[in-house]
Amino acid sequence: MLIGIDWGGTKIEGIALSPNGRELARIRQDTPRHDYDGCITAIGGIIARLEAECGTSGTVGIGIPGSLEPHSRLGKGASSTWLLGRPVERDLTERLGRALRVENDADCLAASEAVDGAGAGHNVVFAVILGSGAGAGIAVGGRAHHGPNNSAGEWGHNPLPFPTIHELPGTPCYCGKHGCLETWVSGRAFEADYARHTGTQTPARLVMEKVREGDRLAGLVWQRYIDRVARGLSVVVNTLDPDILVMGGGMSNVPELYEALPPRLAHYTFSTVFHTPIAQSRHGDSSGVRGAAWLWKDG
Ligand SMILES: [Zn+2]
Repeated sequence: MLIGIDWGGTKIEGIALSPNGRELARIRQDTPRHDYDGCITAIGGIIARLEAECGTSGTVGIGIPGSLEPHSRLGKGASSTWLLGRPVERDLTERLGRALRVENDADCLAASEAVDGAGAGHNVVFAVILGSGAGAGIAVGGRAHHGPNNSAGEWGHNPLPFPTIHELPGTPCYCGKHGCLETWVSGRAFEADYARHTGTQTPARLVMEKVREGDRLAGLVWQRYIDRVARGLSVVVNTLDPDILVMGGGMSNVPELYEALPPRLAHYTFSTVFHTPIAQSRHGDSSGVRGAAWLWKDG
């Protein structure tokens, strides 16, 4: 049995998979926000409950909203700032009394979709999360790609390409820089952009309903959002030219994304042709947790 944990900023989810990918059990609970020890305890509890429910023990893979510094193995680059500088792997190993594997959550998404999701059959999968934050993961041959800094896929903390004068210097990001892509293309950024013009905080889902009803302001905010996503991804296509772009996170549930994005990307990329498939993640919100379980796929 393979157990995957998706340690998100708002929810911690656990799943038990059979070796062929069948879901055996699933548990979800709210994240004890800003409470690192509380999170470690919660993860231990979820694993114990999954194993009790299935009557067997499993391997454990954990997806975190950040990554581990390759040498010290301390948490870094995490929007859940209570993970920063913490020996996540060591603390969880001690708590669980067994070896485990910890990965960036976007890398888990990429691996999950590459193994048996929208990216199956594609060698280089670039998986994008447009959710409360914005991030990405890269899978090559079904496995998450790692570089010497454990920072592959930190797409969300590059500046917005082709900025207009109105987009400089951009808003501050938790990472310490200004105008990171995350501050432009996350679902939260889309809602904030709409709120700037209306003065009301409206969920992205409802803004999209206004777009469909022909609301001019909502339509303009949506077009500007798509243009920013396209600018952000054009650099990825120009640099890596992945075999497929797989979209995850809340904004990936917007069907209009898949019609609107390709022509804008074709406009911004260097190549005179644009053939890259853009697909919604198959496992949706479950991709992170499935990808975490697949960290032990081949033993
Ligand atoms: Zn940033």
